[in-house]
Amino acid sequence: MKQLAPAVWQLKGSLPIPNAINKYLLGDVLVDAGARFEGKKIVEQLRGRPVTAHALTHAHPDHQGASKLVCEQLRVPFWVPEGDVEKAEHPEAIRDEQPSNPINRLFFKTMAGPGHPVDRPLREGDEVAGFTVLDTPGHSRGHVSFWRESDRVLVLGDVLNDMDVLTAIPGLREPKTYLTPDPALNRASARRLGELEPALVCFGHGAPLRDTQKFVDFCRALPA
Ligand SMILES: [Zn+2]
Repeated sequence: MKQLAPAVWQLKGSLPIPNAINKYLLGDVLVDAGARFEGKKIVEQLRGRPVTAHALTHAHPDHQGASKLVCEQLRVPFWVPEGDVEKAEHPEAIRDEQPSNPINRLFFKTMAGPGHPVDRPLREGDEVAGFTVLDTPGHSRGHVSFWRESDRVLVLGDVLNDMDVLTAIPGLREPKTYLTPDPALNRASARRLGELEPALVCFGHGAPLRDTQKFVDFCRALPA
């Protein structure tokens, strides 16, 4: 694991491409659990560390894939954004919410994990490991971000990507529209996050970003 800030670690991925599918340990809470083939590697890295819960930014196959395995093996509760609880418990609901597209179907087939009962629905203003939950819907109905104002650390899931999820070319971009049920709402969420002027941004896909101005400018320039 790589430490990014006090009590913030980025786990090592299972794919040969760095930062392809990110998971973070915030204090004692695992945020996101990658695709279903990544569970073993996640559990190995967390062995010997106090982990008390597993939370999701959103219930998509590349974030919930290993959730059930991780929760069962670490014996921790599952915390999921309120608007994504149904999808986390019954992943076939993910397909119903997503635009119909062959890449979507491929991602679902190769990455989605089994459902798992949710112990705590996350809502705007909740506290998770010293971070505040922010509602940032659009990429999924319930998508949330985690914000720590004291040192301006933001974990934003897939509101924006810092790499192209198909080609792995680095750089800030909006998530693919075919993976995003409501791109306009997602853009509004991104603009909200830009106004926070974060000092460190941790993405679901792509390298962590410490260039506040670049992030703020990107969010401000998004079309309404
Ligand atoms: Zn993702």
